[in-house]
Amino acid sequence: MKLVTFSHNGRTRLGQLLDGEIMEMAWPDSMLAAVRRSMTPSPGSVRFKLEDVKIEAPLIPGKIIAIGLNYADHAKETGKEVPDKPLIFAKFPSAVIGPNEPITWRQSITEEVDWEAELAVVIGRRAKEVSEDEAMEHVFGYMCANDVSARDLQQRKDLQWTRGKSLDTFCPLGPWLVTRDEIPDPHNLRITSSINGEIMQDSNTSNLIFKIPTLISYLSQHFTLEPGDVILTGTPPGVGMGMNPPRFLKDGEVVTVSIEGLGELSNPCRVLP
Ligand code: ZN
Repeated sequence: MKLVTFSHNGRTRLGQLLDGEIMEMAWPDSMLAAVRRSMTPSPGSVRFKLEDVKIEAPLIPGKIIAIGLNYADHAKETGKEVPDKPLIFAKFPSAVIGPNEPITWRQSITEEVDWEAELAVVIGRRAKEVSEDEAMEHVFGYMCANDVSARDLQQRKDLQWTRGKSLDTFCPLGPWLVTRDEIPDPHNLRITSSINGEIMQDSNTSNLIFKIPTLISYLSQHFTLEPGDVILTGTPPGVGMGMNPPRFLKDGEVVTVSIEGLGELSNPCRVLP
């Protein structure tokens, strides 16, 4: 299923994408509540056309755990060693926005805003000290994500990454949450990013260094993964800071993350006065 959070006439609703339309589902008030109660939605009868609704972020995660340098070529372009175990950092859930919502920043805060196309994994069952063999049973589904990053804060001004990764609007998610059963092999999906239609990143999730079962097992040895938590699995090569000269997002540009089977996540960029 492709699960959608959307609003119509100012009211937020949950639905399922069916034949290019959204069928409203009888569900609790939020996708996070639905995932936490592992509910099977029952289809309603009301259908909405996509153009009549505003698609929102599929869910606001409980926590967002991001993995750094999880594609070997991306590690190389940043001038860093390939890690021998997953490199973990956090993004705050307050950074989440949905498709077509603007990524915004003030020039007084950052002038080096970069894009990172990532496969997002949504946890569906509590995971504490799970093995790699059982890890996939804890996956609810998948989304496109953009791990937007303020490189000047991340790389030069701070010793760690939380500030540069967690500015408001710096975590676009969507357009839908695709349940695990629809994606038999999450490690064989084309993943791209583009700016105004020009491809910047073009890779495949087969190139992930640490695959999803390894990530879930490893993370769950340290802290509990709760239903509704999200893991951003890392980005392939082709980010702005890896270019010569570096190239960052500009006001008015539209950045799009696309993953095979998961749809397209587009966001315009706005520099605030
Ligand atoms: Zn990232």
